[in-house]
Amino acid sequence: MSGAGGVCGRYAPSPSGRMHLGNLCCCLLAWLSAKSKGGRVILRIEDLDAERCPRRFADLLEDDLAWLGLAADEGGRAGGPAGPYYQSERAEIYKHYYDILAARSLVYPCFCSRNQLHAASAPHRADGQVVYPGTCRGLAPAAAAAKAARRAPAWRVQVPEEEIAFTDGHLGPYRENLARDCGDFILRRADGVFAYQLAVVVDDALMGVTEVVRGADLLASTPRQLWLYRELGLPAPRFYHLPLLLAADGRRLSKRDGDQSLENLQARYTAEEIIGRLAFVCGLRPAPDPCRPQELVADFDWDKVPTQDIRLPEGLF
Ligand code: GLU
Repeated sequence: MSGAGGVCGRYAPSPSGRMHLGNLCCCLLAWLSAKSKGGRVILRIEDLDAERCPRRFADLLEDDLAWLGLAADEGGRAGGPAGPYYQSERAEIYKHYYDILAARSLVYPCFCSRNQLHAASAPHRADGQVVYPGTCRGLAPAAAAAKAARRAPAWRVQVPEEEIAFTDGHLGPYRENLARDCGDFILRRADGVFAYQLAVVVDDALMGVTEVVRGADLLASTPRQLWLYRELGLPAPRFYHLPLLLAADGRRLSKRDGDQSLENLQARYTAEEIIGRLAFVCGLRPAPDPCRPQELVADFDWDKVPTQDIRLPEGLF
């Protein structure tokens, strides 16, 4: 395991396009949270879906972070002791941990299609996904082999009927019953790619990450991940989930939202203007004046950051 001790944060972007303001906000707060504790920051590129996340987007993202004054201390192109830092190059590592769960008979093949699952009128999870109803869990080995001859299965991990509770560093207490609220989840896709839930746990642990700062859309993934940390005997980080940044009209920002992508922002604002405006909407500064990330370190405090979704004021960007 890497890490010289002390606080270690990370950015874990999936570079499927240019960053938007929500991604930037997340990077800024991850950087500030770690730096305000004297820590360091790792850049891990979450390009498990290598086709959707070509290397040129990862390279652009690194250039953008440097331009903003948010370059990571370790990872990305520069590498470091816990590399590789591109998930697309870490399949062997994920396989090792996947095999630990498989050897305990916790993993089973699942032949359900997305359409079947949605048609099953199963309850929905907090993140909008369907709670897997367990259709393939009890499949006899012979039946599974017959199905596998026709269609490659995805691989799910069987979760217990257990309440997982934790206290988010920003949003407070959160709990979920794994079997009831989440259901057995996918560890490996039918095309052989390991799933985000497994990769993120293995990577954060092996890279020595002590705190994870990310969007509140991943809050509901955290109990699953905490359970995986425990089952794999890996140390779990502290979590801080950020409210989502919404456009002035209340819509969620997305990479398709051209206006808020870094490409367009760069044409209109300096790096200091972008950071200053973001710091303002995050409650870190009383006015949207230009500033550098470094200037925000001394006064950074999670208590200043809103816990409800943040709507960008009209005309700010
Ligand atoms: N790669 C994920 C994203 O870009 C973030 C995962 C995480 O922070 O755990 O949304």
